[in-house]
Amino acid sequence: MTKPLSFYSTNQNAEAVSFSKALLKGLAPDKGLYMPENIPVFSKEDISNFKNMEYYEIALEVIYKFLKNEISKEKLKEIVKDAYNFEVPLEKVSKRKYILRLDQGPTASFKDFAARMMGRLMAYYLKNENHNLLILTATSGDTGSAIANAFYKLDNIKVLVLFPEDEVTLRQRKQMTTLGKNIQIVAVDGKFDDCQAMVKEAFSDSELDYLHLSSANSINIGRLIPQIVYYFYSYSRLAKKEDESVVFSVPSGNFGDMMGGIIAKNMGLPIKKFVIATNENDEFPVFLKTGIYNKIEPSRNCLSSAMNVGHPSNLARLVALYGGIMDEKGNISKIPDIDRLRKDIFAVSVNDNHTRDTIKEVYDRYNVILEPHGSVGWFGLQEYLKSESDIDENQLCISLETAHPAKFPEEIIQLLNIDPNLPKSLQGIENKEEQYDKLDKDYSGFKDYLKQNY
Ligand SMILES: *Cc1c(COP(=O)(O)O)cnc(C)c1O
Repeated sequence: MTKPLSFYSTNQNAEAVSFSKALLKGLAPDKGLYMPENIPVFSKEDISNFKNMEYYEIALEVIYKFLKNEISKEKLKEIVKDAYNFEVPLEKVSKRKYILRLDQGPTASFKDFAARMMGRLMAYYLKNENHNLLILTATSGDTGSAIANAFYKLDNIKVLVLFPEDEVTLRQRKQMTTLGKNIQIVAVDGKFDDCQAMVKEAFSDSELDYLHLSSANSINIGRLIPQIVYYFYSYSRLAKKEDESVVFSVPSGNFGDMMGGIIAKNMGLPIKKFVIATNENDEFPVFLKTGIYNKIEPSRNCLSSAMNVGHPSNLARLVALYGGIMDEKGNISKIPDIDRLRKDIFAVSVNDNHTRDTIKEVYDRYNVILEPHGSVGWFGLQEYLKSESDIDENQLCISLETAHPAKFPEEIIQLLNIDPNLPKSLQGIENKEEQYDKLDKDYSGFKDYLKQNY
């Protein structure tokens, strides 16, 4: 039997570990992010064969490449089949230009793709090792509901989500508070930053070691690998000939989504260009242009709120893949290959006016409904196409839609004068019964609560 693939830390000051260790640890001991030592590749023939496979079957092939010798293919097949039981539609906008709708999961956000797989893999390894975990996470709305839904009813795992009482919408709250079972929710009388500070303090409190706390945030390698799959999937549905090139546009915040795509490219997918579209938090577009990296603190508030990120937590991974080293604070000790980054990536910052105008324009011209995040991606793609004078009109382009428009009803009604239909997963949620506790933004009270409940 060959050795499992190992995963190194981007800070290069911790030992390389297997996938299951990296998954259960989250962050490496040197505070770096785990990355695969080698990126496995598919042949052109493998990639071409994907066109006859369903989503979960492609997921099995892609994910198994990273988990070989750590899980049987049969077991992994069970897991992917259970995780991916929803549609992944591609919507045509114009000639060879498509929207990939990643909004059909249980919380209507692309985060479902990663969270559902990570939860199931964690449950599998924990059961094997006879361990339990308490997932502790703070949310401003969407991450908490994706995590709560993804881990719902899984064995060996409990979830506790803290949210700022006045900062989440009723619908976001109900997506978390109506589950019950292994999911516990706490409203904090404070802001998102207060919730996050309480969570952070709990993680560094040795008196709570007995709880086996784990975070499920976007830096976990177990969330990154599932995000490679939909690049292969969407390409397989649309490519007309072997090795046809494709442009992907990815609305980006913490860069987890786009890292999945970059890894897909390294695995052999013929991606001509990535468009990384950010909102007004333009630290990356500026970096790509100037070679100088400055975080944006505090981050700027934009319409595409899930992308209000002044320092993308996955950026260290991108830097590592291009030969550089960036630490967890954003300091670069070794400069990545900027020329190669520029060759692969077109980065663009999109302001709120363009975001709104694009939602309107795409609806008026093509009858396609975008929401603010997907709109940033689509606008970014248009900017790229304009910048390339010799691009073929038949160039295949796929822009990612990361949330369902019905999650932003006020904005959509105001811009388009229509109230988008709720996806099935969110229908009737207003009438479900809620259960949650309330706490002050005070760590000692929170610590007592943890000790009493777990
Ligand atoms: C999280 C999120 C993003 C950003 O994804 P990253 O992986 O953090 O870049 C974009 N759109 C929506 C709707 C999200 O919830």
